[in-house]
Amino acid sequence: MSKQGKIGVTSENIFPVIKKFLYSEHDIFLRELVSNAVDASQKLRALASAGEYKGELGELQVRVSFDPEAKTITISDSGIGMTAEEVEKYINQIAFSGAEEFLDKYKDDKVAIIGHFGLGFYSSFMVSSRVEIQTKSYKEGAEAVHWSCEGNPEYILEPGSRSERGTDIILHIDSESEEFLSKDRLTALLNKYCKFLPIPIIFGKKQEWKDGAYVDTDQDNQINDIHPAWTKKPSELTKEDYIAFYHQLYPQTMEEPLFWIHLNVDYPFNLTGILYFPKVKNQMELQRNKIQLYANQVFVTEEVEGIVPEYLTLLHGVLDSPDIPLNVSRSYLQSDAQVKKISNHIAKKVADKLDELFRNERSLFEEKWESLKVFVQYGMLSDEKFYERAAKFNLLTDLEGKLYTIEEYRTLTESSQTDKDGQLVWLYANDKETQYSAIERATAKGYSVLLMDGPLDVHAISQLEQKLEKTRFVRVDSDSIDKLIAKDEQREVSLSSEEQQALSQIFQARLPREEKRNYHVTFEALGEDADAVLITQGEFMRRMQEMARLQPGMNFYGELPEGYNVVLNSDHALIKRLLSEEQTSVEPKLGTLREELKAQTELVEAARTVQNAKKADEVTAAEREELESLSYKQAELEGKINSELQRFGQETALVGQLVDLALLGSGLLKGEALARFIRRSQELL
Ligand code: ADP
Ligand code: MG
Repeated sequence: MSKQGKIGVTSENIFPVIKKFLYSEHDIFLRELVSNAVDASQKLRALASAGEYKGELGELQVRVSFDPEAKTITISDSGIGMTAEEVEKYINQIAFSGAEEFLDKYKDDKVAIIGHFGLGFYSSFMVSSRVEIQTKSYKEGAEAVHWSCEGNPEYILEPGSRSERGTDIILHIDSESEEFLSKDRLTALLNKYCKFLPIPIIFGKKQEWKDGAYVDTDQDNQINDIHPAWTKKPSELTKEDYIAFYHQLYPQTMEEPLFWIHLNVDYPFNLTGILYFPKVKNQMELQRNKIQLYANQVFVTEEVEGIVPEYLTLLHGVLDSPDIPLNVSRSYLQSDAQVKKISNHIAKKVADKLDELFRNERSLFEEKWESLKVFVQYGMLSDEKFYERAAKFNLLTDLEGKLYTIEEYRTLTESSQTDKDGQLVWLYANDKETQYSAIERATAKGYSVLLMDGPLDVHAISQLEQKLEKTRFVRVDSDSIDKLIAKDEQREVSLSSEEQQALSQIFQARLPREEKRNYHVTFEALGEDADAVLITQGEFMRRMQEMARLQPGMNFYGELPEGYNVVLNSDHALIKRLLSEEQTSVEPKLGTLREELKAQTELVEAARTVQNAKKADEVTAAEREELESLSYKQAELEGKINSELQRFGQETALVGQLVDLALLGSGLLKGEALARFIRRSQELL
C-alpha cells in the first residue's frame, strides 16, 4: 500500500485560506490536535467498556514534545488510531463544499471556521510546512499507516512505522512559526487550552532545584487536572475545594471569592460549571470576561457575552456545555433558542442563590453587600426579571451603615418623610464629607439619610423612582430642609422686591466667578435658628449632569454649567442686619437714582403697552427707536444702582464671610479662595 492522492476539497486549495483567514488564531492548532488525541483516547475507553475492545487499555495519556533541532512538535496518543481507510475518510476527504461562500460569510469569525467543517486537524498547517501522521488502529490486525502532506492538496499515504496502537502527529514547524518551538511558549499554550482535559497530558519532565539550577527529574510532567471541580458533584466538594479551584483558575488572584454557584443541569440542555462572585472593592477592579467557557473540558474562550447575561460577565468561574454551538457567529449565538435558555437558567440560578443567602444568612449577606451591590444593581438595571427577583434582597444603606430592604426602608420612613402631597421622600448623600452640613440639618429633623455613593447609584435611583409608587429620591443638599420634604405651606419671605434686589446684588458681588458654574441668589424664610446663607443644587439638573458624565449621548446636559442656588434666609439676624446697613449707608448715596429709575420704568412700560396694542407692521421706526432709547436709559440707571450695591457688597466683610461660610458648608470653597477666607477670618477676630 502506497499512494499519492489529492485531498478532497471542492475548493482548489484550502491551505492558503487556512493560513490567511485563521492568521490571528495560530495558537489554537495545539488545542485542536491535543483534543483530537484526547477524543481518540476516550473513544478507546468507551469501546473497552462496551466490550468492543478487549485488549489492554494501558495508561491512556497524551504526550506533547518538541525537538528544536529537527524543528518538530509531536502529539502522541495511545487511542484508537486509524486504518488507512479511516485516514482516507477522516483526513483526506474534507467535506468542504461551497468553501468560498462559507469563508466569505464567516471571514471575521475565525472560531466559526475551525471546527465547523472539521478543519480542526488542518489548523496544524497554520504553523507547519509539513504534517505527518504515524498511526495504528486498535483493530485487530490493523497495519501501521504513514500520511504526509506539505500544505498543498497532494498527500502521501504509505505503510507506517508505529508498532503500538495509537497516533503520532508530527508537525514540521515552518520558518515563520518557530516561536512555538519553545518550552515556555508550549507550556503557556497547554495551560491555556488543555488545563482541564479529561486525559492526562504529559509535557516533559517535572523539575527540581538541584545545585543551583532546575533539572529534570524522571517523573512525567502532567500539565492538566483531569477531574476539575466543576465535573464533580457538589456533595463531593468542600468549601476548601471550591476555594482551591478558584485559585487554580486564577493563580494571580489573592482574594478569596465571596461565594459560588455550582451549575449542574442535564436536561433540557447540558450545562455544568461553577460561577464565583469575586470580591470587589471598587469599580476599577471590575473585570469582565473572566469566565472561561469549555466544551467537554476543552477550553474554548473567555468571551462569554451572549451566553451569560451581560451583567453576569462580571462573575468569575467556568461554564462547560457541549450544547452551546461554538462554531457559529456571535450574533447567531444571541438569537439561538438553546443559548437563551442556558442564559436564562444561569440568571435564575444566580438570583436564587442570592435570595437563599439573604433569607438564610442575612448577616453574612450584609457583610458581603458592598461587593454584591454592583452585581445586583447591574442586574436589576439590565434585566426586568432579575429586578423582580432582586427587589426582595436589594439593600439600601443609611449613613450609619445600617442596611434595609426596600420594604423595610419604606416602613421606617413612611410616617416621618411623607410630604404634604403624599409623596414619600428618600433623602440621600453621595459624599458624606462635603454634604455634612446638609446631612446634619436632615438628621436634626429626625430624617434618615441614605448613602448612595456607588458607581451605579444614579441609575438605580432613577429605576426605583419608576418602579416604586409615590416615592422619590432627593439629595440631601438639593434644597433647604423645609423644602426637601415639604410638610405644610411655606412661610412667606417678608422682603420687598427692592430689598430682595438689593441683597441679591450685594451677594452677587462676592460670589465666585467660575467657568461652568452659575450661582443664583434666592430667598427663603427658614427661621431664625437656621443658617443665614446656604447653597443648594437642584436635584433634577444635577442628576441629569451626573448621568451625562456616565453615559455618552447625553452631552446636552453634560455641557451646561452646574447651577447652584444661594439661599438667603430672610429670618436670620445677620441678613436683617445687612439689609439695615444697606438702608443706612447705600440708599442715601443712591439719592434720586431710585426715583428716576421708577419714573423711567413707567415710561418704558407705557411705550411698550402702546406698541403691543398695535400690529407689528403698524409700529413706526420712530416709535421703535424711542422705546430702545428709553430702555437703554433704564438699564443705565439700573447699572448705576447695582454698582453702588455691589461696591457695598465688596466693602462689607460680613458678606464675604457669609458667602464663604456657605461655600465651605457645601465643600465648594477651595484653593486660593479658602486661603483668603482664612486670612479674612483671622483679621475679623
Ligand atoms: P473533528 O475532531 O471535529 O472530527 P478534526 O479535523 O479535528 O475534526 O479531525 C478529523 C477526524 O480525524 C476526527 O474526527 C478523527 O476521526 C480523526 N482523527 C484526528 N486525530 C486523530 C487521532 N489522534 N486519533 C484518531 N483519529 C484522529
Ligand atoms: Mg478535532
